[in-house]
Amino acid sequence: MTLNGTKNSDLHLCAVSGDAGDPLIERAYAAPPRPSRTAFQRDRERIVQARAFRRLAGKTQVFTSRSSDHFRSRLTHTIEVVQIARLVAQALGLNEDLAEVLALVHDIGHPPFGHAGERALDECLKRHGLRFDHNLHALRIVEHFEMRYAAHRGLNLTLGVREGIIKHSHDYTVEQYPVLAPYLLDRRPPLEAQIIDLADEIAYLTADLDDGVESGLLEINHIRQHVDIVDHCFTQVERLHPGIEEKFLFNEAMQLMQNILSDDLIKTTLANARAIGANSLEAVRSHPDRLAVFSPQAEALRQQEKRYLYETLYTCPELSLEHDKAEEVVTALFNFWVAEPEELPANYVEQIESEGLARVVADYIAGMTDSFILLQYAQVKRTVRR
Ligand code: MG
Repeated sequence: MTLNGTKNSDLHLCAVSGDAGDPLIERAYAAPPRPSRTAFQRDRERIVQARAFRRLAGKTQVFTSRSSDHFRSRLTHTIEVVQIARLVAQALGLNEDLAEVLALVHDIGHPPFGHAGERALDECLKRHGLRFDHNLHALRIVEHFEMRYAAHRGLNLTLGVREGIIKHSHDYTVEQYPVLAPYLLDRRPPLEAQIIDLADEIAYLTADLDDGVESGLLEINHIRQHVDIVDHCFTQVERLHPGIEEKFLFNEAMQLMQNILSDDLIKTTLANARAIGANSLEAVRSHPDRLAVFSPQAEALRQQEKRYLYETLYTCPELSLEHDKAEEVVTALFNFWVAEPEELPANYVEQIESEGLARVVADYIAGMTDSFILLQYAQVKRTVRR
């Protein structure tokens, strides 16, 4: 594999092998051998067939109101992250199967209504001395909630995938989360996990501009005036295709932006790994910082665009209204089931004794799609009125 003509095969040792004997393919329960597939390919099957994965199709990425058929859902966003993660993993000589699985599962713990739903659920739990965290929730889904296999609860995923779920985007401390101690919290995750958060960034930095323009809430010239990387990409495409129609110009520019950020991530990660002579997974793990990062220049551009999206799109009046509604729905349902736990489905009632009522209610809500939670809200409102 080459990157700009540079051989990076000397870095293959950084990759998770995934072969027999690799501790990262260990599972909590013995699984019958399947010689035709690697351990991480089996995890891919298990995740793609999970109910929580299918429900991503009905969960908001940014836009809750479906005023366009073209907006991303959590599922189509996930597929975009998979594509970028595989591309980066391949260029770096990493384990592509592991990178793909981690991308597929990276948003599985998200509640309905995007980040507004997550914030609302977190606020509800805070009043009970608890927190909601989508990565920790993802681990609960794959370890406990999915019920597909006779021998155990959960999906029985490999250690490498469970570690990646916990560590791809956030550094937890063992003091805060003693239950996560088996995931080597004081060590960096493998590069396959480190690239996921950045593949996620690359995906949504492009997609949210696209959906933002589609919604009419963002305007291309305004974006170009305030976001340097976007203006740079438009200028490049205009130079290459003079007189190009606006729709093609926009799409070509977005594609170019994705390529620029992906290439930067690949080059910078490669340079970082070389600089410390990281020729083993151990070297990646013991390094104090993550090796998979953007260059300082690309990082500055990324932050500028992210700020723009926050100020101009995520907090604009139209989306703020959607967020308020999401908060109202989540909070009302949470309060209702905490007051009336017998109204929960029987399999959730059973969990109350071991998990506590507030956590069980949050688990139930977190699993819902946008349309299902709105249905519940309508029903509960009718119940309360009676
Ligand atoms: Mg994501």
